[in-house]
Amino acid sequence: MICGDIDFACTKCRLSKGRTQVVPGTGPCNSRIVFIGEAPGREEDLKGEPFVGRGGKLLDKVLEEAGSDRSEVFICNLVKCRPPNNRRPKKDEIEACSQFLKSELETVRPKVICALGQTVASNLLNRKGKMADLAETSVSANVAGIRVKFFVAYHPAACLYQRKNIGSLKRSIQASLKAAKRKT
Ligand code: URA
Repeated sequence: MICGDIDFACTKCRLSKGRTQVVPGTGPCNSRIVFIGEAPGREEDLKGEPFVGRGGKLLDKVLEEAGSDRSEVFICNLVKCRPPNNRRPKKDEIEACSQFLKSELETVRPKVICALGQTVASNLLNRKGKMADLAETSVSANVAGIRVKFFVAYHPAACLYQRKNIGSLKRSIQASLKAAKRKT
């Protein structure tokens, strides 16, 4: 099930040239929580689903340990096409793709957003700073016109290299899921 208006033939930016396919978000369109990653990697580009590579396996494990799973939450990316060599998406690519993330968020209308990694946090919140300072913080924010509680977590793929941050990722995900369960 596709949530939001996604153009699967989009050519708005240079990432369209190197992709196998556009990777839309997955999960229930009425999820109270949305996890947002940076961009599809190789596995995601091939499969057409977000977070199905090694980082995704860790995300699945952490969700499960927190008593949830990916069938209950919406998971998507800031940009929908894989950047070459998994480089960070550039400002103009994020801008070109923002209408699709906006459409996903307008459809899902989450109570909680959990940003996975610094690129996502700094682009959606306009909050610069070291990840060590941003991780495990939460603020009330307006994202794409929707008022949400916005949590910042370490990116699961980054945690595979910096395993000391897995505990922090777990705490962020637990806290964001708990906030999404709250009434109001
Ligand atoms: N990293 C991301 O940011 N998103 C994915 O979908 C996979 C890896």
